[in-house]
Amino acid sequence: MRSRQKGNTSAQELMTTRRYGEEMPGFAATVYLGLGANVGDRLANLRLALQRLQTLARLEEVSSLYETQPQGVSDQPLFLNAVCRVSTGLESQALLRFLKNLEWEIGRRPGGQRWGPRPIDLDILLCDDRVVDAPELTVPHPRLAERAFVLVPLCELAPELGHPLLGKTMKELLASVGKKGVKRIAPRGWEKGEGNEGIAGAEA
Ligand code: ADP
Ligand code: MG
Repeated sequence: MRSRQKGNTSAQELMTTRRYGEEMPGFAATVYLGLGANVGDRLANLRLALQRLQTLARLEEVSSLYETQPQGVSDQPLFLNAVCRVSTGLESQALLRFLKNLEWEIGRRPGGQRWGPRPIDLDILLCDDRVVDAPELTVPHPRLAERAFVLVPLCELAPELGHPLLGKTMKELLASVGKKGVKRIAPRGWEKGEGNEGIAGAEA
């Protein structure tokens, strides 16, 4: 747990937190987010999401980029997936509202098929070691432990991190799921680039 430095909040961040919810004074949570896209310019969508996230959260680390087989509904395009770690003073429900709004901004519309194609998917995977069980928000993410496309990038950033409910580390969870269907297609730093140079399989 890290406390926010006094006077360190930007004007833009303040405006955003006023819009989405209350910041908890002097408190910042470490949050792992899962990002996915399989419609449109997948790479541009993920880069835009990471850029916009920084209006309210400090982006600390981003995993490599992966191309993954769809799960749940198999007859749909391949996904690009990554995981990032952010530090934010926003409480988790407010963060979810911000993420849903950002999904809309990037072109996702509600009512699509469950686990179907989407231009962007932004999920809260873990929020410190907190447990949230609300109608619209479950943390840790309820399907984290069964998704290789989440666990592979997450293990890159935090292999020894413990799941607050399952009592296992991310590395242990990945060992039971395996890495099938998850292919690393670009090293760290992919989000800072422009175009798709060196990113096999990603569109221009
Ligand atoms: P999924 O991410 O499992 O493919 P969706 O993106 O369609 O599913 O999300 C459906 C709903 O899941 C969202 O509207 C949101 O309210 C809810 N939800 C519950 N827990 C979370 C979480 N940890 N992160 C993101 N959304 C969540
Ligand atoms: Mg989602």
